[in-house]
Amino acid sequence: MTALAVLGTVVVVHPDVTGRRSLAAEVVAGANAPVAIETPITAPTPVPTPTQHFTTPQRPAPTLTRKPKGAKPNITVSSGKLGVVPGFDKATGMRDKLTYRVEIEEGLSVNGPAVAAAIHKTLTDARGWQAVHPVNFERTDKVTADLRIILATPTMTDKLCLPLDTGGEVSCRVEDRVVLNAKRWTYAVPAYNGDVVLYRQYLINHEVGHALGHGHSTCEKAKSPAPVMMQQTKGLDGCRPNAWPTIKAT
Ligand SMILES: [Zn+2]
Repeated sequence: MTALAVLGTVVVVHPDVTGRRSLAAEVVAGANAPVAIETPITAPTPVPTPTQHFTTPQRPAPTLTRKPKGAKPNITVSSGKLGVVPGFDKATGMRDKLTYRVEIEEGLSVNGPAVAAAIHKTLTDARGWQAVHPVNFERTDKVTADLRIILATPTMTDKLCLPLDTGGEVSCRVEDRVVLNAKRWTYAVPAYNGDVVLYRQYLINHEVGHALGHGHSTCEKAKSPAPVMMQQTKGLDGCRPNAWPTIKAT
């Protein structure tokens, strides 16, 4: 502290001559300065969901995944606000187009465009519903979309799924809403043995399967692929994980 006070005085009295010298002195002083001087300025209180304050509801930014080092991903803290992922993914076929919009709860540690891309890839996959039903999925960001596919915290999932009981753990489809629980999206379920990508494909196809009119089915034969419309999140009952309607839909 003493060194800084002296420097200040020198700069004021001899601005031209000692300017450079004092700069050098500052560097040295900075290097040797007590940590206490720097700490209040360079170490602000960590903000758990920094991007929440800088993204508008309409544009969940790709920077959502760039967390401060050491920060934990936010899966459970609910902001209660949904943002639409902007953009379009054209339908690949002409007949029976079904449009959907991807919405993500603000503050979630996910990459909006990547989530939207994963959903579209799953819905238009050759193993998916398009091969089973006369339907062609098209992503839009317009309010006129037939279906809303929402990725939300367990808290918000429970709210959006009412009157269904999702208990903070599972996902649902209610009216025009397909609600994917961010906890499941991020951590999948033990039966999938860490294959999060496959579980996400299952989750999307299962909930959208409801929107296409399918109810639940069960495992009929041990070690055979589980039907997509089985509630695989609650257990596989001896079946093997399966995400694809063409392998076993119901
Ligand atoms: Zn279901």
